[in-house]
Amino acid sequence: MLAGWKRTETRRGVAWTVQPVSAAQAVKEYTCPGCGRTVAAGVAHIVAWRSDGVLGDAADLAARRHWHTHCWSIA
Ligand SMILES: [Zn+2]
Repeated sequence: MLAGWKRTETRRGVAWTVQPVSAAQAVKEYTCPGCGRTVAAGVAHIVAWRSDGVLGDAADLAARRHWHTHCWSIA
């Protein structure tokens, strides 16, 4: 379901895997952890999860968070 390029970014000493979600791929609503508002379906955004794997891959995937692109960029 997710496509596009992945990258790793560091926020406050924590490594995150970041992957863009295109408008066409955004078929559900999510709550952005940055601003607490809705990431509406059909809006391109990013999904981020911890890439250090301390909790294991399954837990990391379950902990993925969807952010407005802008909110992530200023987080
Ligand atoms: Zn936001």
